[in-house]
Amino acid sequence: MHSKGLNLTRLCTEEEENESSGEIRCNHGYVLPLLTTWTPRNPGRRYWGPQSCDFWVWKDSEIDPRSKFVIPKLLDKMGELENALEGFENLANSRTTLKVENTIEEDKMKKTEAQLVKLQDDMEKMKREEKKWKSKIG
Ligand SMILES: [Zn+2]
Repeated sequence: MHSKGLNLTRLCTEEEENESSGEIRCNHGYVLPLLTTWTPRNPGRRYWGPQSCDFWVWKDSEIDPRSKFVIPKLLDKMGELENALEGFENLANSRTTLKVENTIEEDKMKKTEAQLVKLQDDMEKMKREEKKWKSKIG
């Protein structure tokens, strides 16, 4: 919803937390996965999510009002920053493409220039030949 690239849940979960938290099972005996919700009402609040049925349960107590106010704002800001970064990366990529195109154009120009120089050389040679030929006749 807010963040595309960053895995917030992973960022806010300590590795050993998952293991030491114990297993929560529904009435059907399925182990419920520990999840994190990022809704404005419960930002960053963890719960054991539903697996085969609708049963689920909170792990964390309710988010305190201050966090409830601050965390969604931070999430929005992070989304903005990620968008800005994405735009910047796109711009950088298009600049690189432009550079490559310029290099190709430059290459073509250099080749054309070289051909022109060769052509001038040939003309000089022909003129010299012509002079020799004329002097032979004359
Ligand atoms: Zn169940």
